[in-house]
Amino acid sequence: MVRVRFAPSPTGPLHIGGVRTALYNYLFARQNGGKMILRIEDTDQTRFVPGAEQYIIEALDWLGIKFDEGVHIGGPYGPYRQSDRKAMYRQYAEQLIRDGWAYYAFDKPEALEAKRKEYEAQKKTFQYDCNTRLQMENSLSLGMEETQRRIVAGEPYVVRFQFPDNIDITVHDMIRGDVTMNSRLLDDKVLFKSDGMPTYHLANIVDDHTMEITHVIRGEEWLPSAPLHVMLYKAFGWEAPQFAHLPLLLKPEGNGKLSKRDGDRLGFPVFPLEWHDPKSGEISSGYREKGYLPEAVVNMLALMGWNPGTEQEIMSMDELIKLFNVEHISKNGAKFNLDKAKWFQHEYFQKLSDEAVADMLEVQMKEHGVEADHAYVVKVAGMMKERITFPGELWETCCYFFQAPTEYNEKDVAKRWTPDMHIHMSKVIEILNTVPFEYDAIHKALLDDYIAANGLNTGKVMNSLRIAVVGRTVGPDMITLVMMLGKDETISRIQKAIDKLKTE
Ligand code: GLU
Repeated sequence: MVRVRFAPSPTGPLHIGGVRTALYNYLFARQNGGKMILRIEDTDQTRFVPGAEQYIIEALDWLGIKFDEGVHIGGPYGPYRQSDRKAMYRQYAEQLIRDGWAYYAFDKPEALEAKRKEYEAQKKTFQYDCNTRLQMENSLSLGMEETQRRIVAGEPYVVRFQFPDNIDITVHDMIRGDVTMNSRLLDDKVLFKSDGMPTYHLANIVDDHTMEITHVIRGEEWLPSAPLHVMLYKAFGWEAPQFAHLPLLLKPEGNGKLSKRDGDRLGFPVFPLEWHDPKSGEISSGYREKGYLPEAVVNMLALMGWNPGTEQEIMSMDELIKLFNVEHISKNGAKFNLDKAKWFQHEYFQKLSDEAVADMLEVQMKEHGVEADHAYVVKVAGMMKERITFPGELWETCCYFFQAPTEYNEKDVAKRWTPDMHIHMSKVIEILNTVPFEYDAIHKALLDDYIAANGLNTGKVMNSLRIAVVGRTVGPDMITLVMMLGKDETISRIQKAIDKLKTE
């Protein structure tokens, strides 16, 4: 039985890279008929941010990434928040000490800092490891008696992992193959802190084991920690899960990890939902609030670091579940591409029904104090949908279907509305008043019998008509638009434009 987990730390809003990690876990779980678990890793109380956990849950729910067990829904392996599991970690730290895999360390922050400085002065980097640990204040250098005395006296301590000297540790990674590191390069990481809390490393391994996690799928930034994790499994005598470290999401330029600052600089969100920082009050934009559809975000993220092995780009969640495979996850970082994000959004917007788009448009019409027959709005929505990427563009793009222009684009007027144009527009009114109000009849009367027959410039006359009806030279097929607006409204708009633009 496949069991995977998404294990974020509630230190702020969930980065879009974290969302991708959650998504890949979800796809893998669903494809294998397994379980998807949400575990909150909040052992570092200093980095805890109120509201972050709720944000993570809401964001993943919006995207349709569902869980079988987790902090918000419970399950047979709970609790699913590490601070609620606090009592269980100490015994594991003690077990490691008993078995010679860990030791107590009493070094004060100042002593560690002094050591670092001392090394720096010699142009070296201090690392707490097999070469240096005996120079430090710990149970290995002090002996058990002195260690016991200090613990009883209430001296603060941490528990550190004791790497065996000079062994090669191999991590089998499903994406990268074997990654081997020598233990001499690794520092004796703190596993348990004086505040009675485990660190990420200990809690993560204990939880993955006790929650029977079979596959650990997480960001590449955790690869350097993987040898320690492999050793911890060995030290406990537990079977390690399989690891897959996902490639980083890179800046659009490709150099370095995608950060919040890149989003601010280039104007795109790096968070799924808008985030209000509880301390600074700063607001960071979110995909949801920008009007992105969750399906578009999911599809875009799925392809950032993975491909189905074909040219197919548009895939629903169900298709992704079918097609996903770890073999096609790239080893290289994936560059964020804003144009591509918008392309996906546009594609998914087109999949919305005319009714759904009309509903969105009606909300915006209300804000502008405009009402119209629902069937008419649906028709407008259907006609204009292909020009829309974000719902926020709806009113601006469609407003002239509901109200006459109040001003006329200066550039367009200068280019098209020649001094004699009021004469032609009066003629257009006359034509509309006399021919049957049908597409073909209007088309023939206007373009053949008037414009062509009099040797007029079609672009100039038709675009001036557009200026009169729309306010600028944009919009759908002109005669279709006239048919939509109806005879009276069209004529009234042309007359208004004649009055306004004649003297100018
Ligand atoms: N708490 C870690 C994070 O915030 C989880 C890393 C892991 O999945 O092992 O990314």
